[in-house]
Amino acid sequence: MRFLICSVLGLVYATTGQLGAQSPSGRGNQARGNPADTEVWLPVPAIVTPGSTDAAPPSDAIVLFGGSDVNEWVSSKDKSTAGWKVENGLLTVVKSAGDIETRHRFKNYQLHLEWRVPETITGSGQERGNSGVFLASTDGPGGGYELQILDSYHNETYVNGQAGSIYKQYVPLANAMRKPGEWQVYDVVWTAPTFNPDGSLKTPAYVTALHNGVLVQNHVELKGETRYIGQPVYTPHGAAPIKLQAHGDPSPPISFRNIWVRELK
Ligand code: MG
Repeated sequence: MRFLICSVLGLVYATTGQLGAQSPSGRGNQARGNPADTEVWLPVPAIVTPGSTDAAPPSDAIVLFGGSDVNEWVSSKDKSTAGWKVENGLLTVVKSAGDIETRHRFKNYQLHLEWRVPETITGSGQERGNSGVFLASTDGPGGGYELQILDSYHNETYVNGQAGSIYKQYVPLANAMRKPGEWQVYDVVWTAPTFNPDGSLKTPAYVTALHNGVLVQNHVELKGETRYIGQPVYTPHGAAPIKLQAHGDPSPPISFRNIWVRELK
């Protein structure tokens, strides 16, 4: 009998030890049970074929500017044809033509956009290569929510207004600016705000942004539209265009290329 008990205990010990050794987590005795209990097999994620490079649009992207025309954009002022210049595959700001915005309206999305401050840039502070991408263009007092575009390469200004800032709301986590003449890349995840039927805010907007592959905004919660003067406020809106800013400063205009967007649920 004693032999039998010892044998059983020995077997249990050996088995337990073996299970522990096989556990992928290395947690030994904690790794009991059926691993299939925590496996998810459905629904299967959609297949998205990536671009040939990370700058090229994936298969499910809407190309907003691919180098040949500005057909996806209209004047923000009167919705007429966008008056910015397309040349050599680049879209260059024409300041006198004003802001431009997409024909399509978007809710949540992933945006890729490249921009270049000319090597010949002049001016300082906010008067040096100022533009901006409004992640949703609205009729509210701020005109939307601006991710700032500016030459921030050795160019001092208020830090919640430098490149990569959510204008006057969030300072970028880093200054990842390349020097004038080189291309800058923004990759942005935009979660649009939602509103209750009475117009009150239901859920705020969130932004995650990378500048040249460097995280500059980490899921920040917006306080409302970005404003030049005064505190941010929300004004209810639905799906909205993406807008590019024609800033009135006298410095030479910046250019864009490779702009695409993926709508998110
Ligand atoms: Mg701006």
